[in-house]
Amino acid sequence: MSGTRALLIVEDDELLRRALKEQLAAQGDFATIDEAEDGAAALASVKAKVFDVILLDIGLPDMDGREVCQRMRDAGVRSPIIMLTAADSEDDTITGLDAGANDYVTKPFRMSVLLARVRAHLRQHDQSDDAIFSVGPYKFQPAAKMLVVGNGQKKIRLTEKETAILKYLYRVGNKTVSRETLLGEVWGYNAAVTTHTLETHIYRLRQKIEVEPSAARLLITEPGGYRLNP
Ligand code: CA
Repeated sequence: MSGTRALLIVEDDELLRRALKEQLAAQGDFATIDEAEDGAAALASVKAKVFDVILLDIGLPDMDGREVCQRMRDAGVRSPIIMLTAADSEDDTITGLDAGANDYVTKPFRMSVLLARVRAHLRQHDQSDDAIFSVGPYKFQPAAKMLVVGNGQKKIRLTEKETAILKYLYRVGNKTVSRETLLGEVWGYNAAVTTHTLETHIYRLRQKIEVEPSAARLLITEPGGYRLNP
């Protein structure tokens, strides 16, 4: 599980929100956990930042959670959204899924159940064409082999190998990966490539993503290999 992921909890019940944040933080799946107490704050949050998963209460003080969900989808949010609902009625569930939610969890729920759902959706989303990851100032879209700055003002095209290198470094989180591991993961463990090939690709990748390629701040060389600084 990557240590660079971001979660958003949208819940007006402060006690529940705090408890969720505390318990999810203790699991270590997320590097940052943001909170929003109503729909307006939630919509502002997703405009400012990419979240990997959003937990969204259905009963918010200013608007219906399903409407918030719909507006997030309209605004281009593609991350998994899990609705938290007190109402165990089929109607609510169906409208929630219609609004673009991926799943729903009925209150009261066990933390282990919620966490299992969150992880399942993360895994699923990672494999999908919609996956977007935050890397420094970029939104990284592996399926499109692209890095996007801001709202698409600038797009950087990546090769398949560059995409695979970034994706692997992102996956392991803020940890150093040895050249041998990276070679194996990107080119295959039986491929007849040398670390020189990897270094060439890293060099080209830095030319594309670093402000100052000779003084890398994102894709960092460490004594044991390479590390992605999120
Ligand atoms: Ca509520």
